[in-house]
Amino acid sequence: MVKIGSHVSMSGDDMYLGSVKEALSYDANAFMVYTGAPQNTLRKRISDLRIEDAVNLMKEHNLSFDNVIVHAPYIINLANPDPEKREFAISFLTEEVKRTAAMHAKQIVLHPGSAVGGDRVLAVEWIAEGVKKVISNTRGLDVKIALETMAGKGNEIGKTFEELKAIIDLVDEKDRVSVCFDTCHTHDAGYEVKTNFDGVIKHFDEVVGKSYISVFHVNDSKNPIGAAKDRHENFGFGFLGFDSLLHVIYHQDFKDIPKILETPYVEGNPPYKEEIVMIKEKAFDPDLVLKLKSKS
Ligand code: FE
Ligand code: FE
Ligand code: ZN
Repeated sequence: MVKIGSHVSMSGDDMYLGSVKEALSYDANAFMVYTGAPQNTLRKRISDLRIEDAVNLMKEHNLSFDNVIVHAPYIINLANPDPEKREFAISFLTEEVKRTAAMHAKQIVLHPGSAVGGDRVLAVEWIAEGVKKVISNTRGLDVKIALETMAGKGNEIGKTFEELKAIIDLVDEKDRVSVCFDTCHTHDAGYEVKTNFDGVIKHFDEVVGKSYISVFHVNDSKNPIGAAKDRHENFGFGFLGFDSLLHVIYHQDFKDIPKILETPYVEGNPPYKEEIVMIKEKAFDPDLVLKLKSKS
């Protein structure tokens, strides 16, 4: 069975329990959460996350911990030229990995970082250094750091498979790193995800190794190939289109890998329940966005 879900929120009194409830409301069997607001680093104590209640609800619904993914906040930059800020990023990520383990999740998605001054080689070294420190600070925890493929907006590292490979090469404990493959980002970075996903994967396999892929973000893109914009579109409504995204989701090589939607809300309405129906039924609904708009 396809492992499909979306990012869900973790807030209010319910926290993690609310995340599970939200995922179940979309008929999802996978989900991804930020442990707090993605744009800041304020976090609640682990004891306030309602982990036990969330875990019980997951067990009740046979939702496997393997399909639960945490996403680190995107303001964290392991390649910040300021050494104090790099230290902060490392200590924050260390706590994030501990939270991830406490939540029974097996991987945390990380945007590798941004080469602020433009030196990409140095940025790759700083990122690897940071990832290594976080791993050694959390030795023994069953959590992988999933480096995300990036669109290449600004000076983002991870636009090419070679950059991800360069980071992984510098990490000794390779069982603690993996890759999050985002279809919108790779398309925006210039890879032919729409017309030749098998070729893209062959290339990825040669450079990094396809067994490193531990999660997919299955987003459509608002922009043409190579645009380096990183603007997600609803499933099937963008430049990638329904059939190419479905090909990724049902690809034989990645049957057991969870797929996560980070597609945009439509006028305040989450599209995930309906997008998951389209994916499971393998049938595109060209009126979906209009229907979601009329809900408002
Ligand atoms: Fe991301
Ligand atoms: Fe993503
Ligand atoms: Zn994105």
